[in-house]
Amino acid sequence: MITSVPKAVVVGGGFGGLAVARALLDDGMDVVMVDRHNFHTFQPLLYQVATAGLDSDNVAAALRGIFHDRHRFDFRCGEVVAVDFAARQVDLGGATLGYDWLVLAAGSVSSSFGVAGVEEHTFALKSLADAVRLRSHILRQFEDVAADPSLGDHGGLSFVVVGGGPTGVELAGALVELIEHVLVRDFPNLDVGRARVVLLEAAPHLLSAFSPAARRLALDGLRARGVEVRFDTAVDRVEEGAVHLVGDSTIEASTVVWVAGVRPAPLAEHLGAGVNLDRAGRVCVEPDLRVAGQDRVFVIGDLAAGWPQLAPVAIQQGRHVARQIKRLEGGRPTRPFHYFDKGTMATIGRNSAVAELPLGIHLSGFVAWVLWLFLHLITLVGFRNRAAVMLNWAWNYVTYDRGARLIVDDVVA
Ligand SMILES: Cc1cc2nc3c(=O)[nH]c(=O)nc-3n(C[C@H](O)[C@H](O)[C@H](O)COP(=O)(O)OP(=O)(O)OC[C@H]3O[C@@H](n4cnc5c(N)ncnc54)[C@H](O)[C@@H]3O)c2cc1C
Repeated sequence: MITSVPKAVVVGGGFGGLAVARALLDDGMDVVMVDRHNFHTFQPLLYQVATAGLDSDNVAAALRGIFHDRHRFDFRCGEVVAVDFAARQVDLGGATLGYDWLVLAAGSVSSSFGVAGVEEHTFALKSLADAVRLRSHILRQFEDVAADPSLGDHGGLSFVVVGGGPTGVELAGALVELIEHVLVRDFPNLDVGRARVVLLEAAPHLLSAFSPAARRLALDGLRARGVEVRFDTAVDRVEEGAVHLVGDSTIEASTVVWVAGVRPAPLAEHLGAGVNLDRAGRVCVEPDLRVAGQDRVFVIGDLAAGWPQLAPVAIQQGRHVARQIKRLEGGRPTRPFHYFDKGTMATIGRNSAVAELPLGIHLSGFVAWVLWLFLHLITLVGFRNRAAVMLNWAWNYVTYDRGARLIVDDVVA
C-alpha cells in the first residue's frame, strides 16, 4: 500500500461508506474501510430474502470484491470499538489504525424501544443473518404444523409483524404471497388457510412518511391480500408464542417480527463525552457533516443526526464528505450538506406499490411497482447481483414460485 498520500479510514461498508470510499479513491486518496462484515448488505431487499424471493447472496456483495480494481483500497474485517481523536486512531479492540481523515458510517441497529421480550422473542430484519434466520423460522413453522397440526391451534401459523413503516408493509405483503402462492402448493395436506399475517402499528395509519392517499392505497392493498392490519395497537410485551398488547389483549403467534424502528450503531455511545448525541443517540454534526471540534472527523448516514434514515441520504452524504475532504486538502473551506429528496416508495405486493416523487408526482399500482423494481435493480451493487435478482424476479413473476425456500437454521448462528 502506498502511504505518501493522505489516508482516510471509513468505518462501515454500507450505503454511505461505499459512496465516500468510491469518491475518495477517485480523488487518488488511500482508503482503508473497516466493517465487522466482509460484505455490503442491500437492506431494502432483505424482506425478499426473508420470504424466499431472493437468495442471500443476491443482496450482498463482498467489500474486497467491490474494490478489487482499486490499488489504493484496503479492508479490515473488524469492529471499531472506540476512537482516539487526539492520536487520530481508531481502536479495533486490540489493534489500532491511524487516519488523516475519518468517516464514521456505522449505520443503525434494530431497536426494541425497551419493550419487554423483544430482544429474546422476536425476529429483527436488519442484517443478512436476520433475514436468513427469519426465512428458516417461517418455513420451519409450516413443517412443524404439517407434522403436528395441533400446533396450528396455538399460533403455529400466525405471523405478527410489528411496525407499519415501509419494511413492515413490504414484509407483510410478501409473506402473504409466499403463503398463498407457494406454500399452499408445498403443503397440499395442510390447511394453509389457517395461516394469519397480522401487521401491528401504534399510530393511526401506515407509512407515516407518505401522503394520506398513499397510506390508504397501501392499507387497501394489504387488506385485499388478506393481511390483518391493526392501528393504534402498541405492544406491551412479547413472550414465547404470544404478543401481549397494551389494553390486555393477546395474539398467540409463533413468529413475531419486530421492524418498529432502529437506533444508532453502538459505536455512537463509545465516541466519548466530547461528542454530542441527539435524543435518539445519533451523532450531532455540523452543517458540513463534521463532528464539532474534530476537524478531521465526519459522520454520515443513519449514524448522523438531522436527516431521514434512508439509503439516498447516506449516499449523498458520502459523496458530499469526499468533496469536502478534497476542499480541505486544497486549503479551501467546506460547504454545508443539502439533501436532494428524490422521493420515497414502498411495495405492497405483486404489481402493486406506492411512490411519491418530487414535483408532487404520486404513482401507484403497476407503474409504481415497475419503477420500484427498476430503481432497486440499478441501485444494487454489482452486475452479478443485478443479473441474479432480475432473473429471480422474472422467474418468480412468471411461475409464482420462490426458489430460495431453504431451512438453514443449523448453519446460521
Ligand atoms: C429492512 C430494511 C429496509 C430498508 N429499506 C429502505 C428503502 O427501501 N429505501 C431506503 O432509502 N432506505 C431503506 N432502508 C434504510 C437504509 O438501508 C439505511 O438508511 C442505510 O443503509 C443507511 O446507510 P449507512 O451507510 O448509514 O449504514 P448501513 O448501510 O447500515 O451500513 C453500516 C455498516 O457499518 C458496519 N458497522 C456498524 N458498526 C460498526 C463498527 N463498530 N465497526 C465496523 N463496522 C461497523 C455494519 O456492518 C454495516 O455494514 C432500509 C433499512 C432496512 C433495515
